[in-house]
Amino acid sequence: MPSNAGHSPRDDDKLAAPPLPAPLQVPVADSHTHLDMQSGTVEEALAKAASVGVTTVVQVGCDIKGSQWAAETAAAHADVHAAVALHPNEAPRIVHGDPDGWSRQGARPAGGDAALDEALAEIDRLAALPQVKGVGETGLDYFRTGPEGKAAQERSFRAHIEIAKRHGKALVIHDRDAHADVLRILKEEGAPERTVFHCYSGDAEMAGICAREGYFMSFAGNVTFKNAQNLRDALAVAPPDLVLVETDAPFLTPAPYRGRPNAPYLVPVTVRAMAAVRGVDEDVLATALAANTARAFDY
Ligand SMILES: [Zn+2]
Ligand SMILES: [Zn+2]
Repeated sequence: MPSNAGHSPRDDDKLAAPPLPAPLQVPVADSHTHLDMQSGTVEEALAKAASVGVTTVVQVGCDIKGSQWAAETAAAHADVHAAVALHPNEAPRIVHGDPDGWSRQGARPAGGDAALDEALAEIDRLAALPQVKGVGETGLDYFRTGPEGKAAQERSFRAHIEIAKRHGKALVIHDRDAHADVLRILKEEGAPERTVFHCYSGDAEMAGICAREGYFMSFAGNVTFKNAQNLRDALAVAPPDLVLVETDAPFLTPAPYRGRPNAPYLVPVTVRAMAAVRGVDEDVLATALAANTARAFDY
């Protein structure tokens, strides 16, 4: 069959938004998204998501400006909750005097630990707001940040753990190629009561550690990727009360739409793939996912 038979030209456009999936019968939350990096308005994204049963989103900030925006957006929309943080790749940029998204004109610090402290103070202020339900994404990223950024990442991560605990908010972990150090630092600092590994990237053995510690594991669209059997193995053994679903949109679009723009309305695609891995009905899984996300973020 010719590649374009039966499809509109738009369907075949590798950059086009994927089609709407069939709605979930039981509504769920997208536990981690970046609406500020997606096309269209917040209202459009929320309406599209709600039309397929994705009725709640956690909007995650990665820098000062993004965290302020997340808090403002959550204040304006009952179905949006905010998480605020300096991303692990942002912390070294601040220390080295090159921060993205510093919105206070004329107040851009020159770098160093003082600049990081000043940025953390703003995260601390935002974390106290009632619509801010999480502190993150924070953690360690050894993929994008080299050895010269490690100290800043770690200092920032430890500070975020302290902020999350002091305000009683969920901690949202970004862990890329840094499993052992993330788990160690959590242990050294003492993890907050509610800790979420966003875009869970460990194997089944690490899922066992997370299960023992009571850490939530949030699975993204990459759980559908052909080369991600380790993630499916982890999902298969994760306790049902610790599993979440997310898009991390606009990134990590699930198969078969890999490479196209991701958005919260595509959560059902990932939920169905997850239900198949766990051998459960999608309504049963969706019921658990909805309850787990509400518990993790205390909304
Ligand atoms: Zn992340
Ligand atoms: Zn993210």
